[in-house]
Amino acid sequence: MKKTVKDVDLKNKKILMRVDYNVPINEKGEIEDDTRIKESLPTIKYLLEQNCAIILMSHLGRPKGKPEAKYSLAPVAKRLEQLLNKPVLMAKGIVDNETKSMAEKLSSGEIMLLENIRFDPREEKDDPEFAKELVSLVGPDGVFVQDAFGSVHRAHTSTHAVAKLLPSVCGFLLEKEIKYFDKILYSPERPFVAILGGAKVSDKIGVIENLINKVDVIIIGGAMAYTFLSSKGISTGNSLVEKDKIDLAKELLKKAEMKNVRIFLPIDHIIADKIADDAQVKHCDTPDIPEGYIGVDVGPNSISRVANIITSAKTIVWNGPMGVFEIEKFQQGTKDIALLVAEATKKGATSVVGGGDSVSAVKKFAVEDSISHISTGGGASLELLEGKSLPGIEVLQDK
Ligand code: AMP
Repeated sequence: MKKTVKDVDLKNKKILMRVDYNVPINEKGEIEDDTRIKESLPTIKYLLEQNCAIILMSHLGRPKGKPEAKYSLAPVAKRLEQLLNKPVLMAKGIVDNETKSMAEKLSSGEIMLLENIRFDPREEKDDPEFAKELVSLVGPDGVFVQDAFGSVHRAHTSTHAVAKLLPSVCGFLLEKEIKYFDKILYSPERPFVAILGGAKVSDKIGVIENLINKVDVIIIGGAMAYTFLSSKGISTGNSLVEKDKIDLAKELLKKAEMKNVRIFLPIDHIIADKIADDAQVKHCDTPDIPEGYIGVDVGPNSISRVANIITSAKTIVWNGPMGVFEIEKFQQGTKDIALLVAEATKKGATSVVGGGDSVSAVKKFAVEDSISHISTGGGASLELLEGKSLPGIEVLQDK
């Protein structure tokens, strides 16, 4: 167990806090989704109650180690100011003289946000010198608070090297993420059902390999189902198949059988002549897909077959949509899964949804409030599901 902000005395301290403000910003400089900013508020408010001075740092997008106006965090500072109803000082740099003097003058109860940490090329190098410069902003009595779950799978300067130099603890968001992933991975109530979809088997190999040792059932949908079907000699028409992963898919099915894990692949499909709004769409009532068609969603029979399994599960993890749900004609399978996971949760199951696209699906079908935990980190949640330990969590102080 890692220490949290509640396990150390933070009264009147200067805090260096890593947040995940990697939010979508449009060409007009407007924030399109401020969920990530809102999610940092509980920890920030708690630190303010402790009379802390808070220096926030985050990355935004992928600038190439130098300042680029479109990746500035200035719009985020404004939004944070509105949400907190108090001033947020926006630094123009990261560890330049002006920022250092701002940090020095920062009093208890004040907040400042550093400019995009990736404007410095040393950020992605886990650089000890850069870490020392960042830590100097809060001084030797400072504390590092990590609340950027979406970044803890990366050993970067602001997620790893700085944590080695200061007492370092979790914020509330990170604490919640760890709590749910620990629960489902290390003490799940059974039956434990994993629902995996999305574009590629190659992205989820590690997840499947790890979950085979933990779950009772794996339901596979999305484009990755076609590589598995192909490995069983089933025709997949023009569906997305990763030819170089067919043997591996076969092996994974065999491993699952040996471990008594039941795997459900689609038995019917929604098929289309192309992936577009104006596609010709049909229901294909067999596992085999005819030539010239693409599987774009799981069919209704595939859903009926797993409905009871999902609603009687006690633990569910869902990562990846069942089809091309961004297009309305191809969304039904993903919508049905979202509703079934919500129903199971209402009946007492613990459900964890991770990965950017399944999170958007949960929001699109308005079941966010009926999911136990919606993870805020796509890459980080996948790595936890793969059984990896994450450097940005590992480095924090143990209780
Ligand atoms: P991932 O990031 O791996 O979770 O994949 C999400 C993407 O997979 C979404 O953009 C979906 O549109 C896409 N996807 C799901 N099912 C299919 C399919 N049958 N064919 C092509 N793309 C799909």
